[in-house]
Amino acid sequence: MYKQKAIRKLAIMGGTFDPIHIGHLVTAEEVRHEFGVDEVLFVPTGHPPHKSNINMTTSEHRYLMTVLATAANPSFKVSRIEIEREGVTYTIDTIKELKRIYGENVRLYFITGADAIHKILGWKDCSELLQICDFVAVTRPGYNKDELLKQVEELNRTYETNIHFLEVPALAISSSNIRKRIGELKPIKYLVPEEVENYIKKHSLYDYDLHLTEDEK
Ligand code: ATP
Ligand code: MG
Repeated sequence: MYKQKAIRKLAIMGGTFDPIHIGHLVTAEEVRHEFGVDEVLFVPTGHPPHKSNINMTTSEHRYLMTVLATAANPSFKVSRIEIEREGVTYTIDTIKELKRIYGENVRLYFITGADAIHKILGWKDCSELLQICDFVAVTRPGYNKDELLKQVEELNRTYETNIHFLEVPALAISSSNIRKRIGELKPIKYLVPEEVENYIKKHSLYDYDLHLTEDEK
């Protein structure tokens, strides 16, 4: 019978995943390895009814692409926690809910791009957030983080927070770039998992049908 293993360290990879790409997957795997994390939970954001989100792909498509991309990794899971919540989602609410679900003894690592650390101080209840979970700020090799490191050391000292840095290899990939490539009829093969490419094709996401021949349509 399938037995749920006890989780001691949980990493959280939040994002719009519109679409999920190998940058997200390599990052999650690197965090899993470097921090000895038991599980990485991918948390696709909801689809708040903002004007700025009008072009965002529906939550269900983004969720399913995330499931397809992570299915083969036994340490990766996907959560519907944000896509099922009404209205605007705040990270603090998600973290608190995950703490309730997984229990107080689980150490949480919230993964984010290094640039976002600048913005964290502006987040809702940031000091509480920084107290209740660790942060992993990911950078690409060559990223100049001297200035950021100083800020983070200051933060860690002042608030006794746990903000870590982690360099992730070779990934000048973003979802916006993938959407742009599709628009320009450029290949996205190997930038996203094959299952995700097939899903995009099947549902003509991001106007992928422009790539198809008359026979394939
Ligand atoms: P977009 O271009 O639409 O902003 P994105 O590629 O940044 O999309 P998101 O879903 O916004 O993807 O990102 C989710 C998380 O993954 C964020 O914390 C982001 O910083 C991180 N991330 C995105 N791309 C990479 C990458 N290539 N390497 C490492 N981390 C990444
Ligand atoms: Mg982004």
